[in-house]
Amino acid sequence: MPQIEPSARYPDQPTVALSQPVGDEVRKTTCYMCACRCGIDVHLRDGKIRYIEGNRDHPVNRGVLCAKGSAGIMQHYAPARLQAPLKRVGPRGSGEFVEISWDEALETATRWLGEVRERDPKKLAFFTGRDQSQSLTGYWAQMYGTPNYAAHGGFCSVNMAAAGIMTIGGAFWEFGAPDWDRTKLFVLFGVAEDHDSNPLKIGISKLKARGARFVSVNPVRTGYSAVADNWIGIRPGTDGLLILSVVHELLKARKIDVDYIARYTNATWLVIDDPGGADHGLFARDGDGKPQVFESVTERVVPLGTEGARAALSGRVTLDDGRTAVPAFQLLAERYLDARYAPDAVAGETGVSAEVIRGLAAEIARVAFDETIFLDQPWTDMNGVRHDGFVGRPVSFHAMRGLSAHSNGFQTARALHLLQVLIGAVDCPGGFRFEPPYPKPVEAHPTPHGRAEHFGSNKPLSGPHLGFPRGPEDMLVDEEGRPARLDKAFSWDAPFSAHGLMHMVIANAHAGDPYPIDVLFLYMANMAWNSSMNTAGVIRMLEDKDEAGEYRIPKIVYSDAYSSEMVAYADLVLPDTTYLERYDCISMLDRPISEPDAVQDAIRWPVVEPDRDVRGFQTVLIDLAGRLRLPGFVDSRGKALYRDYADYIVRHERRPGIGPLAGFRGRDGGRAGRGAGNPEQLDRYIANGSFFSAHIPLEAQFFKHANQAYQDFAVRMGFFDQPQPVTFQLYQEALQKFRLSAEGVRKPVAPETHRERILSAFDPLPFWYRPLEEEAVDREAFPYHAITQRPAAMYHSWGSMNAWLRQIHTRNPLYVPGSVCDAHGLEDGDWAWVTSNHGRIKVEIRRMEAVNSSTLWTWNAVGKRGGAWGLDANVPEAERGFLLNHLINELLPPKGDGRRWSNSDPITGQAAWYDLRVRIEKAEPGLESQPHFSALTHLRDREQVPAELRYGQEWSR
Ligand code: SF4
Repeated sequence: MPQIEPSARYPDQPTVALSQPVGDEVRKTTCYMCACRCGIDVHLRDGKIRYIEGNRDHPVNRGVLCAKGSAGIMQHYAPARLQAPLKRVGPRGSGEFVEISWDEALETATRWLGEVRERDPKKLAFFTGRDQSQSLTGYWAQMYGTPNYAAHGGFCSVNMAAAGIMTIGGAFWEFGAPDWDRTKLFVLFGVAEDHDSNPLKIGISKLKARGARFVSVNPVRTGYSAVADNWIGIRPGTDGLLILSVVHELLKARKIDVDYIARYTNATWLVIDDPGGADHGLFARDGDGKPQVFESVTERVVPLGTEGARAALSGRVTLDDGRTAVPAFQLLAERYLDARYAPDAVAGETGVSAEVIRGLAAEIARVAFDETIFLDQPWTDMNGVRHDGFVGRPVSFHAMRGLSAHSNGFQTARALHLLQVLIGAVDCPGGFRFEPPYPKPVEAHPTPHGRAEHFGSNKPLSGPHLGFPRGPEDMLVDEEGRPARLDKAFSWDAPFSAHGLMHMVIANAHAGDPYPIDVLFLYMANMAWNSSMNTAGVIRMLEDKDEAGEYRIPKIVYSDAYSSEMVAYADLVLPDTTYLERYDCISMLDRPISEPDAVQDAIRWPVVEPDRDVRGFQTVLIDLAGRLRLPGFVDSRGKALYRDYADYIVRHERRPGIGPLAGFRGRDGGRAGRGAGNPEQLDRYIANGSFFSAHIPLEAQFFKHANQAYQDFAVRMGFFDQPQPVTFQLYQEALQKFRLSAEGVRKPVAPETHRERILSAFDPLPFWYRPLEEEAVDREAFPYHAITQRPAAMYHSWGSMNAWLRQIHTRNPLYVPGSVCDAHGLEDGDWAWVTSNHGRIKVEIRRMEAVNSSTLWTWNAVGKRGGAWGLDANVPEAERGFLLNHLINELLPPKGDGRRWSNSDPITGQAAWYDLRVRIEKAEPGLESQPHFSALTHLRDREQVPAELRYGQEWSR
């Protein structure tokens, strides 16, 4: 008899279960087909994945799933998956490997790593790509004791992150987001499709539904720009100039939020004006180190925060010691009101007409000040002042790599934050809003660790690798000023390199500059192909041997789930699982998935078991930590503390009661943020859709940088142990300290070789300078820019071997503006030589009109090396696809003194991918792009791999 039960939905009607359920089993986890971390429902039947759809209840994507996300099934069944640990038996690059057991692989890795840790720990360089476990990998490297650790941020968007944190205590994407429900004007700068992909789609659709205006500033009109109300086709590398011209217009029209600026920024702080003095350009401080301001009623210099003081924004005062000082705002206003920032003066350089710049400024001013929002929610600020509600300036901005990946990107990102602060649009209704645990002032971040006194044989590093120097004294250099780190991060070369310089690691290791290493340990970083500048050169470095016939980079350990180009150059390969086969933790200790209204983090879990001899990299790392007896991973008797990564996620505590996950803490799982470990924690996450969410109290939702209720909430959640309000640093004193060092008036004095560079770039107020490659090359010989865009359907090299996604992009032509085609006799489908100061490539072109007239562009990372990623030698990606990387050198052209600087932002070390200058000329028709590389050896027997991979087809090793 069928069971008859009342239905919950229609209690009067019985529900008849006529048969066994016919539906799929659905397991909810987190997508990893790009970095956005959407929630997904994985449908399974008989233990096999049938398809993937968006989780409608997930706070990041609300059910939205992109092409990449749904194609995750083909990533999971990809022929490119590694099958077992590998040991190289032929020369590097030959593809000659033998499969070995995990015991042998782990014993080998332990021996190599153990010897280095004993002898000289800095001879391990451990760098990770676009992984999402940096709170573990960083901790592991710290406990190991090498100074040489970072993730991929140095070649991605460190300019955006560092400039944001140093200016407002947070940045875009993982740090904050536009207030999509209230903003009335949204301005998107540059490439963003790969950062905040689905949230931006959802946000833009909300804007469209409400009739809000969306302006895109991008040299190329693709992706989101294609649906913008206004497209501003700017010349690459000039965004900072455009932004500061908008600032010029706003200041001229007095359309700035003076109360907001005076209350929340350092605009009133007095800056010492004493040219040639050791404190010139620094803040005047009292005996306790408190910044001083000029009290405009009593006309006295008083410490910041003096009760009842009305601090002036302009004027010149004499300090007690006789020196003079002016409020930072006065310097700011004098600079940006200068005629060189007038729209007419910048139009030629930016390629944007003065009329458009004036129009953009006017629209920002109109929306910010004529369409102000007021939310009737009383709140109290950090000074104890009660406010009736939240005042909102409904203008918001978003930017990522397009602004970042230039050698002037740090100052450009600072300029954008300056703009949004000046109109009072940071963390207000309708503006940009922080996502917990941000904002965090620089003071809440560590200084970097890695100097010789920070580590030693068989000892952990005395603090975290990555952080923010407060001045030159925090740099990682020796007494002679030589870099302590292999990538030269936090040295005079790039003092604020908060994410390291991964793009310099192989070149420096090969050159033994500043010292040789023994082991290069990489995870998920395709450095032998699309993740490196000067790809052919990097391949040669990986293969190069010394006079004794030994590889110059002696040992390379690599972990990846797929047979990427990098695998061929490894000596030991540790095969990772796919994202559907392992635990992951998108942690509050790192950059979680919070929203402006809620604290959120997430996990992944093995929704299917691996069918190969592979292990999750994080579990392997924990295993290695136990074998190496790293502190923090073993008890006092040397016994491993954690069984695997899942065990670590649940039981590890970074501080008492603070672990990797914020949700379901405490013995009963009822605590959030702080609390004892909960053995059921992962089960609770899984039952909750693999995420945790805790709403921020209404009173605490805006002005988090200065909101008493939010700061108390942050302490309760364990982000901080005491309130950490943020004063926006429009004037950046730390940069001025470097200038004083470069002038030789402050210790440590900058080396002679670095002085000009520091003096020209380290301005405490945002400014614009020409990108360094553009300045170094003959602009007439290389008249065009060449940049990449991220296709919405692919993410780095991951997607371009995916059987479904390859049907969208199998090759990448170079898109050339119509006017450039006409000037060079090029027609759609022609082939052309494209030449930079470093090299030349031959590619197929497409004519395009929706692009800045001096800009050539192509899709990123579609070009492949034949044989890699399980692809045949003659696939379109290898024959007609190409990389711009072959045209980009990791070093700038030599200067007069013969020195060559890294092709990076001089402040942060951010790789300057988008500074590339080229020329173009017609070529004979071809069948394959140049340079063409010999195919790599397949790592799998082709007989075992079907010629065509189809949905639903079942095959394995
Ligand atoms: S944007 Fe697409 S690929 Fe990225 S996490 Fe979301 S669903 Fe996955």
